[in-house]
Amino acid sequence: MKKQHLFLFLILFTLLAGCAKPAAEVVVEETRAQTDALQAPVEILATNTPEPTVTEISQTYQLPEPPANRTRYELDLIFNYYSHFGSVTEKITYTNKSSQSLAEIMLVVPPRNYQDSYSQYSLGGDLVDWHREDSIFTFVRLTRPLEPQETTVINISFRIYLPQYPGIYGYTNQQANLSDWYPFIPPYDETDGWLAYERVVDGYNTIVGESIVNEFSDFEVSLTLVSHADLIEVAASAPAQGADGHYTYKLDHARAFTFSISDSYFEHEIEQDGVTIRSYVFMSEVEAGIAVTDIAAKAMKLYGELLYPYPRDLISIVVGDFQQNMEMDGLIMISYGIFDFYDGKQETDLDYNLFMLVPHELSHQWFYGFIGSNHAVEPWLDEALATYAELLYYERYHPESVDWWWRMRVYKMAPAGYVDSDITIQGGYEPYIGAVYLQGVLFLHEIRQTIGDGAFFESLKDYAYANTYNLATRGDFFEAFTRHTDQDLTSITAKYFMNP
Ligand SMILES: [Zn+2]
Repeated sequence: MKKQHLFLFLILFTLLAGCAKPAAEVVVEETRAQTDALQAPVEILATNTPEPTVTEISQTYQLPEPPANRTRYELDLIFNYYSHFGSVTEKITYTNKSSQSLAEIMLVVPPRNYQDSYSQYSLGGDLVDWHREDSIFTFVRLTRPLEPQETTVINISFRIYLPQYPGIYGYTNQQANLSDWYPFIPPYDETDGWLAYERVVDGYNTIVGESIVNEFSDFEVSLTLVSHADLIEVAASAPAQGADGHYTYKLDHARAFTFSISDSYFEHEIEQDGVTIRSYVFMSEVEAGIAVTDIAAKAMKLYGELLYPYPRDLISIVVGDFQQNMEMDGLIMISYGIFDFYDGKQETDLDYNLFMLVPHELSHQWFYGFIGSNHAVEPWLDEALATYAELLYYERYHPESVDWWWRMRVYKMAPAGYVDSDITIQGGYEPYIGAVYLQGVLFLHEIRQTIGDGAFFESLKDYAYANTYNLATRGDFFEAFTRHTDQDLTSITAKYFMNP
């Protein structure tokens, strides 16, 4: 095994898992993955998988209207990049979309996952009586129940002190990342109530999957940079208006609003089909920062055909000064490790990491950003599909490397477990990836081989259109398939699902 291959193994499990993040102040044990990988049997399932083709579309689909009465977040953030703290006023306009009257409203406050990172000065509103805090949750008691279709306003002022932590909420010496940085109201389910979960940290102190579930909401955000604004570049979930450290943003029917801020970014942008694809990288990655916009353009084109065209004006691809990769709405973060190994010659496996992870995270703009799901409870609905999207990218643009993808991405990682596992899976992060991502890929591939490419891609497109702006469930997924195939899929679900 060549040295570079060995190193690839070392980093594979964290870098290539996609959408992973370690708990604060912890280095993910990379050698565990190496051990597993080397012991795993290597087999190739699909050596001659056909290239994904857009089959004859028997139907035309239309994107549904965004849900009415969306929650509106108005966030004013004053941020000092160099001292890593922000002062925030937040106004949440919330309409009770359920058929039940609500005596209290729940807020999820993710910064409280980090010690001393969140300091709340006030919480009030037209119907706010009092509130109590429990872990990262705040329960706001109302003076009287909020009736169905009735609207109320909650005002919060708080400060955030970013933790020194290489991740999607925290700062390093060349980056500050603000994801899930404000209190939000989780989706309310008629049967299950508030869909809000504590994060799950496994025995190796790695966070397992995604615990935060958001509704489709509207965001009006302002950012004021108070120190050396002229030196600082801001990547965000939406295009900025303004200049000189005063910016405003608007993003409708989105799941969250994220910033990545640095005084060390080098930008490159291209335009394709009316969408600006912009990269933000550090100085040593300028070439990769150009290459990544091309990879992203190809991925966007493919998903535009297979699902539907990206319906926004901008997508930002930002280097993460940490060892994970993560999707946010309108913005994806790819580890510096992936960028740094790209040498542009496309002669080694290392180059291909960028070709794997960028398509993965970009596909989450659909399978997370537009097509919602509850990824704490049914994470396969976005992660299995995003991992499968990597294969579709390889089939289209690098068919000679499809075998490599199966070997490196799936079989060397030893897929095992049930596809319908959730973030509380026994054993934590590694079994989670093996079950949800990798068994998820095998599951999707078996469906495709059973029903054929025509029905498979038609079903996928139907699922995508039908569930845009929806929190889809497995029922929605399988219903889309039954609309396009008579084949019985129960033997496949029996094989891969805990609860078939
Ligand atoms: Zn993912």
